[in-house]
Amino acid sequence: MSLSDNASLDTLQQVFGYDSFRGDQHAIIEHLVHGGDALVLMPTGGGKSLCYQIPALVRKGCGVVVSPLIALMQDQVDALLELGVRAAFLNSTQDWRTAREVEQAFMSGQLDLLYVAPERLLTDRCLDMLSQGTIALFAIDEAHCVSQWGHDFRPEYLELSILSERWPNVPRIALTATATTVTRREIAQRLNLTGAQHFVASFDRPNINYRIVEKNEVKRQLLAFIQAEHQGDCGIVYCLSRARVEDTAKFLCSHGIEALPYHAGLNAATRAANQSRFLREDGLVMVATIAFGMGIDKPDVRFVAHIDLPKSVEGYYQETGRAGRDGEPATAWLAYGLQDVVQQRRMIDESPGEEIFRRRLGAQLDAMLGLCETVACRRQRLLEYFDQAIEPCGNCDTCLEPPEAWDGTVAAQKILSAVYRLWRERGQRFGAGHLIDILRGKLTDRIKQYDHESLTVFGIGADLSEQAWRGVLRQLLAQSLLAVDHEGYGTLALTDGSRAVLKGEATLMFRREPEKKARADRSSSR
Ligand code: ADP
Ligand code: ZN
Repeated sequence: MSLSDNASLDTLQQVFGYDSFRGDQHAIIEHLVHGGDALVLMPTGGGKSLCYQIPALVRKGCGVVVSPLIALMQDQVDALLELGVRAAFLNSTQDWRTAREVEQAFMSGQLDLLYVAPERLLTDRCLDMLSQGTIALFAIDEAHCVSQWGHDFRPEYLELSILSERWPNVPRIALTATATTVTRREIAQRLNLTGAQHFVASFDRPNINYRIVEKNEVKRQLLAFIQAEHQGDCGIVYCLSRARVEDTAKFLCSHGIEALPYHAGLNAATRAANQSRFLREDGLVMVATIAFGMGIDKPDVRFVAHIDLPKSVEGYYQETGRAGRDGEPATAWLAYGLQDVVQQRRMIDESPGEEIFRRRLGAQLDAMLGLCETVACRRQRLLEYFDQAIEPCGNCDTCLEPPEAWDGTVAAQKILSAVYRLWRERGQRFGAGHLIDILRGKLTDRIKQYDHESLTVFGIGADLSEQAWRGVLRQLLAQSLLAVDHEGYGTLALTDGSRAVLKGEATLMFRREPEKKARADRSSSR
């Protein structure tokens, strides 16, 4: 064992009170202690903090930690002070006198760790101050904030490459729980960390049971899920819009489940109060937009439910990863349906900016839809997205109750030819509901009004239920074999891919929900 081996293990045991390192921690720490740069990808709760805290203590000088999570700095610093580590932070919540004291302490070598918000770090004053002290290392936390494609993008992160220019000999470590190869490459490039060693931990969370159900009456389904499996448990429910957050929280409360809302439209005091109640009390359910969660470390969250489709697999992984940090069984439950696909495809089409941006959003959505529609193990699909291969997990819905795959080619042809005929013969486009009525031969007022009973496709799909047709439509949309019309109100149009299906050149295998579950979902929705 080298001297630093001893030094880092001693620090772990004597300062932090732990017996041994976890996963790659030791290798990462040694690499930094010896002056190397590192890029660390580790799931939340994996133990990233020690990877820079220990080298900062072992090396000469102060470790400078860049973090966007201003609200958590005080807690982090307090925890370190309690362990006897000389830690401090600089951010906009301080008065100038306190900030001055921190600056003095740094310059006179009295700090082991200094946490700084990125916008603060980049000021001339702060950079000047840093050059007047000894820096042990730079740690760039939440490094995925440098990615313009993620929802945590912080423009200041792009300017952090200045650190390598000004301090070429100070080791740097970038850390994130966001794991795709693309994001990893982006981080390395933008932070000028091209020579850094990569440490990639396993992203599997075996204690989380992943489940994706077909959405019908989603609030009722959610309630039934909580009542049946998580009564009295602490959980998070994610929604896409603020209105839906409010509405869902009220609904749960009116059914005896203590739920709090959280979204960016609430004032800061309410948000802070709800967050701190969620962290401190037992058994609360937080109903939130994705504004909630980054940096939240609550070990006993027993379930994370999504009642709207997440926009990307990465987001879904991050959000569900907040369940079961303590390693005990937890559930990730997602309800998803036809309207989610329609709505999100439309939102992407309507989003401003360059085409390449929309294409990237489209690809992210496609990956998420692939996960929803897969007949393979959910966890396999999820980890595949992060380039990690595993055996079928035995703890997801498709492993536990394998869905059947069925040949939906003929059904798909029926729908596509209905769309085709309406457009060619009548110059009309309709949404999902009306199309299904045509196929099932239902004589509604609207059918009569448009004389759609005279179409040759009228009634050719009476063999399948409305629910089954919705499933077919959803899967066609998921595979871009049908598109949501740009101008329309969710009306449907053919795509380039539709042609091959209509000509009989493609076979389509669809997912059929297991019978048992479909029945349970129906009864719970009453
Ligand atoms: P991350 O930043 O990756 O989300 P943290 O650094 O906050 O994770 O660590 C998560 C938890 O694991 C913390 O409570 C931390 O004290 C604990 N921990 C980290 N490393 C070890 C270790 N080697 N032994 C025991 N506990 C550890
Ligand atoms: Zn599985």
